[in-house]
Amino acid sequence: MFPDLPDVTRFARILRWIKAWFNVLPLDEAARLLPAGRLPERAAAITFDDGYADNVTVALPLLAKTGLPATFFIASGYLDGGCMWNDAVIAAIRAWPGESFDGAPFGLGRYGLSGPADRRRAVDACIDRMKYRPAADRRAQAHALAAAAKIAVPSDLMMTSEGVRVLHRAGMTIGAHTVTHPILRKLPDAEARDEIERGRQRLEVITGSRVGLFAYPNGRRGEDYDERHVRIVRETGFDAAVSTNPGAGGAASDLMELPRFTPWDRRRLGFCARLAHNLVEARRAGTAAAPAVTRAGSDRSRDPA
Ligand SMILES: [Zn+2]
Repeated sequence: MFPDLPDVTRFARILRWIKAWFNVLPLDEAARLLPAGRLPERAAAITFDDGYADNVTVALPLLAKTGLPATFFIASGYLDGGCMWNDAVIAAIRAWPGESFDGAPFGLGRYGLSGPADRRRAVDACIDRMKYRPAADRRAQAHALAAAAKIAVPSDLMMTSEGVRVLHRAGMTIGAHTVTHPILRKLPDAEARDEIERGRQRLEVITGSRVGLFAYPNGRRGEDYDERHVRIVRETGFDAAVSTNPGAGGAASDLMELPRFTPWDRRRLGFCARLAHNLVEARRAGTAAAPAVTRAGSDRSRDPA
């Protein structure tokens, strides 16, 4: 259903390009060097969001083989058998019997389902409609959709706690990404703080190490988080945090809102051109020195919320 998402071959190719073009650093190290202006030229960091199991089974061996470090931002509440609501919607519509979907009982539209492209459009439309609903409603509706499709909500999409330890032992950085991946702006401040703190604590217990990095769920300033959450993240004692606001970080960047950018092109030239364009735009906006942060994950595309 999602031919545009990278597969193993494409991801391996992208890693080779990144290795050839950039000085890839662990994000925590980059965040230490950035304010002092001591980053190497063409610095980049690689990040993954949410805590999908294939980060461990598929991406980790490729990263290890290429010798590149990465940071994994994990929503702790889905470890060990959980499923994010958007993945329950995808599973339901993928399995939906027949050639059409009438979402009226769920407050959703009507869509044809005659092929994979149709099903993908239905998924995207339903996720867009559900994304900013209250978290409990959204989860209940996603589970109701799965039940109506007569499938079990997938329990093997997300990492196990042992998977987190495997990443950590392999020298990868573990970052916090809240417990349930809420839209922080939709929560009262106390709940937002609780999500941010508890997500981190669980990962610290699992890894036995301090967790110094945070990624805002969905990650767009003004839409998904705002200055209240930046303050909470700072007060909670994180060293740095990343958004999904596109751009490139520089010595003047706020460490609590580092930009990230997803180059999605399949071809080398297009991939390179998109990176260059991002950097030029960031420099024009006065936010960039050199480094880019490349991310892989679902936020900004078919993310949850
Ligand atoms: Zn996320």
